[in-house]
Amino acid sequence: MSSKAELVIVGTVLTVDSRYPTAEAVAVRDGRISAVGTAAELAAEIGPDTRVVDIGDGCVMPGLVEAHGHPLMEAVVLSDRMVDIRPVTIRDAETVVQAVHDEVARRGGDGAFLSGWDALLQKGLPQPTLQWLDAAAPSSPLVILHNSGHLAFFNSAAARLHGLDRHTADPKGAAYGRDEDGELDGTARETAAVFPLVAAAMNAGSYPAMLAEECSRLNRAGLTTCSEMAYDPTFGPLVDALKSTGALTVRLRTYEMSNPQMTAHSAPGAGDDLVRSTGIKIWVDGSPWIGNIDLTFPYLDTDATASIGVAAGSCGHANYTREQLTDIVGAYFPLGWPMACHVMGDNGIDTILDVYENVLARHGRQDHRLRLEHVGAIRQDQIERAVSLGVTCSMFVDQIHYWGDVLIDGLFGPEHGSRWMPAGSAVAAGMRISLHNDPPVTPEEPLRNIAVAVTRTTPSGRVSGPEERLTVDQAIRAQTIDAAWQLFSDHEIGSIEIGKYADFVVLSADPRTVPPEDIADLDVLATYLAGVQVYDASA
Ligand SMILES: [Zn+2]
Repeated sequence: MSSKAELVIVGTVLTVDSRYPTAEAVAVRDGRISAVGTAAELAAEIGPDTRVVDIGDGCVMPGLVEAHGHPLMEAVVLSDRMVDIRPVTIRDAETVVQAVHDEVARRGGDGAFLSGWDALLQKGLPQPTLQWLDAAAPSSPLVILHNSGHLAFFNSAAARLHGLDRHTADPKGAAYGRDEDGELDGTARETAAVFPLVAAAMNAGSYPAMLAEECSRLNRAGLTTCSEMAYDPTFGPLVDALKSTGALTVRLRTYEMSNPQMTAHSAPGAGDDLVRSTGIKIWVDGSPWIGNIDLTFPYLDTDATASIGVAAGSCGHANYTREQLTDIVGAYFPLGWPMACHVMGDNGIDTILDVYENVLARHGRQDHRLRLEHVGAIRQDQIERAVSLGVTCSMFVDQIHYWGDVLIDGLFGPEHGSRWMPAGSAVAAGMRISLHNDPPVTPEEPLRNIAVAVTRTTPSGRVSGPEERLTVDQAIRAQTIDAAWQLFSDHEIGSIEIGKYADFVVLSADPRTVPPEDIADLDVLATYLAGVQVYDASA
């Protein structure tokens, strides 16, 4: 170890260390934090070769942690091989439809891929029936991914390309839609059916550049660690190749998708501090925006539910049965795997908590960090039950920013719609939660997550469930140390403490001192991974 620091950052240091919340300087040696303290204390760290960065009115804090992301897929979805039609990018239906026609014309026989269709926010979209898709692209493949990621629309040429027809069996937990005669209707629901259609947009030759751009995108948002919550091991060599060039500037924590054989391609904790196998991803249900979440209460009868094809009074459904989930969790958990389970509806939450409770009774271990993902409709009794089992939640509060009004007025009414993502109740019950964007469902915007968790402001400006608001400090923890904890990484990242990696984000101001709604718009000025600057806004 060198005798002096390689880097000293001077300015407001937001440590997320409750023993010492704010410091004046932080020093880095060999990529790790070597000292935190007052500027006077750290003067001794500075030698002739030390890079000293004075951040002025800015604020340095731990690199932000995305506890539930899909970077390996987002690399493709937001590449120029697919057209971004997400509601965060295009709001009106006409422009979306025009984008479909333009891309079909541009790509011809190579096939057109678009991602982000959302009839709830892009009001007036046509029903994307097979007839409509075939009219838009009569002879070339067309695949349109719904913004939720849980549904894709594909035309007849795409079906032929992928060898899909009426004889194709539905994958476990997924389905191809069929008409009354049993013919495919051009819809694919859930990952095992959707992924192969989207994967056709990537090829191994172009992927490294796509992934490098994804790393830059995450660094620009201040993220230094991101989970991959639908890890497909076929991406392993591509990730390793980027890592070997030094261009992998984000730590990845992978959750491999459970597969029909219920096997994993690595061991729990395999890998290193940059890329590590962390857990197994499972699913109970789907997306509120397409009607397949497993609820005890019904969807409303409104124009919004009609626009997404949900029958009035439907309580949605699960994609996996209790027996399937018991088998899957029972196969992986005893081998030491942590699990993260996608579940939105409260009926589904009952099911997975039963399954978790059973496996813990038979194979319980300390520090299992079993997780529930999203949990939009989780009830108070379920929060308390989860806490008693040591199960924690990763919450998608950014849904309130985009769909907050639709949730209340269009889908579920005030009782359930304004309690959506009850982060305040979870934290009050003693749960360590994380916040996430599920990118590319919403862009990686961790600062907006913090703002939304604190304000719960919907697009129309109402405060949705004011009792569920977090304090700024609670929200910061959920985007740093507690997110790192869920990813089994709190010993190495997530706070500015001596010995941890020098993963930092420099913001234009201290988020604890600005009005909460302004946190979303703070500028990310710089991002560091292990002391190396990986993003510089002034460059
Ligand atoms: Zn996800």
